Amino acid sequence: MSRPDLNQVKENIEYIAIGSELLTSSYPETNSLFLADKLENLGLEIKYKSVVSDRLDDIVGAVKVALSRSRLIFISGGLGPTDDDRTREAVARVVKRPLVFCPAILKKIKDRFAARGAKMTPSNRKQAYIIKGAEVLDNPNGTAPGLWLETRTHLLALLPGPPPEFNPMVEKLIEEKIGIYRNNYVLKAIIRTTGAGESWVEDRIKPVYRLLPPELELTTLASPGEVQIRLTLPVKEINKQNEKIFNKVKDMIIKLLGDKVFSTEGQTLEEVVGHELSALGQTLACAESCTGGLLADRITSVPGSSNYFLAGLVTYSNKAKTKFLGVPSKLIKEKGAVSREVAESMAAGARKQAPADLALAITGIAGPGGGSSRKPVGLVYIGLASQDGINVVENYFQGNRRQIKVQATQKALDMLRLKSKNKKKSIKKDKVDSQ
Ligand code: ATP
Ligand code: MG
Repeated sequence: MSRPDLNQVKENIEYIAIGSELLTSSYPETNSLFLADKLENLGLEIKYKSVVSDRLDDIVGAVKVALSRSRLIFISGGLGPTDDDRTREAVARVVKRPLVFCPAILKKIKDRFAARGAKMTPSNRKQAYIIKGAEVLDNPNGTAPGLWLETRTHLLALLPGPPPEFNPMVEKLIEEKIGIYRNNYVLKAIIRTTGAGESWVEDRIKPVYRLLPPELELTTLASPGEVQIRLTLPVKEINKQNEKIFNKVKDMIIKLLGDKVFSTEGQTLEEVVGHELSALGQTLACAESCTGGLLADRITSVPGSSNYFLAGLVTYSNKAKTKFLGVPSKLIKEKGAVSREVAESMAAGARKQAPADLALAITGIAGPGGGSSRKPVGLVYIGLASQDGINVVENYFQGNRRQIKVQATQKALDMLRLKSKNKKKSIKKDKVDSQ
């Protein structure tokens, strides 16, 4: 069977997200972002994207429009077992093909349930119907298989909506089906920094702008507690020469930004810190007030964090700070719960109670209420206790409650990163000295 023209496919890509919930304020549509990123790596762009309700007529309408103006169409969601999952039916109707029962899929779904000691519900049977002529895309992370349909004029991918199912299926699809439509290769880097504002970063990297080849794109992106520099260079092929140009720019930026750079290979700050702690064989505890456990959450989001993270205490009230960390109630009364002295005492208490090599403590005012002229919203003290003593930093963060909490945890992790970095340096120096 003949396929749609290569160039027409490349230039006419469309994405449709199905799901009434995605039209509400509660569920952001994110699958298209993942897809766009993967397509960008091939030098491909989505031309149209839309979000459509679960209603059959609406899906039929959207698919008809897509077929009239695009060649490669990705459709996400609505492949589940429930009544409101109607993507298969809608697409079958538009391409005028019947749905056919596929016993192999039913067996897979049954086996999946059996593996968890459960029985398949009758409604799952629906998922074993495929559009005639479509290829089944395996779904190792859920019951709904995806479908790949090639017609003389169009390429269609029907993919499950939940991101943990959508993402791996897209990756596989790109590898196996979409790769041949590649326009170019892209050299990409994300340099992540913390501890400096966007204008500082911009100022610092100014000398690089003059050296940028015209096709190399540099963008900076700021979020609470972080500034990212993204570099992208589209190339016809990846070779030593263009890699050299790209790496030269990348290395120059990294050098100019010094220890503000915490990662260049995509790692999060908590991953970087975790890696350092593991390498040094050091343990960590934390005590949190205004961040309410966000710091512990970030630390434990790293697989393997149990190797170094021992305990996180959320001591929100004054009494809890005294009871669990041994902060003297007199100190709280005299200095206030949000003070340099209390942060210091919390860090010391957490280090002793765990006991751990290192302890972080955060106390501050996340707002919107509770501030005063002497202690405004955004004032946060962060303490880091180690065998070398306790270091407390006073911070004035801006933004809403959430943004202040995020910045406080970011700063705390960064204090730990810089401490571990210096420790590593001094170990190296000791080795050299003793040689
Ligand atoms: P199933 O019903 O078996 O989970 P499905 O293919 O029918 O799979 P949906 O019912 O459409 O998927 O979506 C299930 C959930 O996945 C949604 O409630 C939403 O949380 C998430 N989701 C779906 N589509 C998207 C999307 N485009 N972007 C982000 N999240 C999505
Ligand atoms: Mg569903």
